[in-house]
Amino acid sequence: MRISAPVVLADRFYMSEEALEEISLLGGFAWADAAADRDLAIKINGSPSVKVLVSEYVPINARVLDQAPGLKGIIAYGAGYDHVAVEEAARRGVQVCNCRGENAQAVAELTFALLLNLMRRINLADPWVRADEWPKAGRGLPEWAMGEELRGKTLGLVGVGQIGSRVARIAGGFEMKVLAYDPFLKKLPVEMTVVPLETLLSLADIISFHVPLTARTERMMDRQALQRMKPEALIVNTSRGRVFDEVALVEALETQQIKGAALDVFADEPIGWDHPLVKMKQVVLTPHIGALTREAGKRLAAAVVRQTRDILEGRPPEGLIEK
Ligand code: NAD
Repeated sequence: MRISAPVVLADRFYMSEEALEEISLLGGFAWADAAADRDLAIKINGSPSVKVLVSEYVPINARVLDQAPGLKGIIAYGAGYDHVAVEEAARRGVQVCNCRGENAQAVAELTFALLLNLMRRINLADPWVRADEWPKAGRGLPEWAMGEELRGKTLGLVGVGQIGSRVARIAGGFEMKVLAYDPFLKKLPVEMTVVPLETLLSLADIISFHVPLTARTERMMDRQALQRMKPEALIVNTSRGRVFDEVALVEALETQQIKGAALDVFADEPIGWDHPLVKMKQVVLTPHIGALTREAGKRLAAAVVRQTRDILEGRPPEGLIEK
């Protein structure tokens, strides 16, 4: 098979019917359903008609670009673009853009869903009721049922972009204090105290990560960084799993060096039942669903249409990543 459509949707992300119709009117599209870069490269197979590649997770690197000589633009579906070789694309004159901001509210809301779940032990309470344990226990609920409140806690935000700033705003509603670490921050979105990372790690009760995966953020949370945290501290990670040294994170949780974690992202996804985090009761896990809301899906699909039109018509697309 050799794809001949101008727009290639590399993996199975959400696209609304309206968005697909609009892309059809722009020249047509093909779902590649690629599992990885090699698979995508084989399916494109040197086709000169491929002009736009849209990918949520499939790596778009030299191997893929070699097979798409007519490519004009790459759209990273979502906010993260660590799967796209941006410099390699720039060398070949291929524009790269992402859909930043379109899924920010969904991720910010999941951050609190995870956090409230962890602090009120909903992950333990729900299966406990379903397992018919309540009638047996009567009024004597298990020790884990005693939760904690967000009010008055110090929230440390690592990364205050589209998602981090929305998290900060919601935190205000819970009457939390907000500390922030973001070396590229130009303007504070709401009242917060900007501190060095070391200070944030040692003072925050809850630390939430909203950074892109870059050479600088990869494994920024290593053993040493985890050791700076308070023993009662909680972590929420909806950014990228590789921001953590996952082995060190497991160790910190196992040895109760930190109290708990709520994680939507992992170093290698998907994780299976035998992953050490799966066995931990002080951990809440979701399968990378941060951006998965109907509303965000519609906004992302509409952004992909706008960006596709821009690229095909020779304009710099919105969300252009400059290198
Ligand atoms: P954004 O670009 O608006 O914000 C990222 C912020 O991180 C920026 O303010 C930037 O200055 C800051 N930053 C960069 N390097 C940093 C560093 N070394 N230390 C501290 N701060 C640093 O992006 P966003 O839309 O807020 O998304 C953030 C990340 O969340 C994405 O890159 C993506 O990896 C992840 N994400 C995950 C999901 C999910 O489904 N779980 C969905 C969307 C985004």
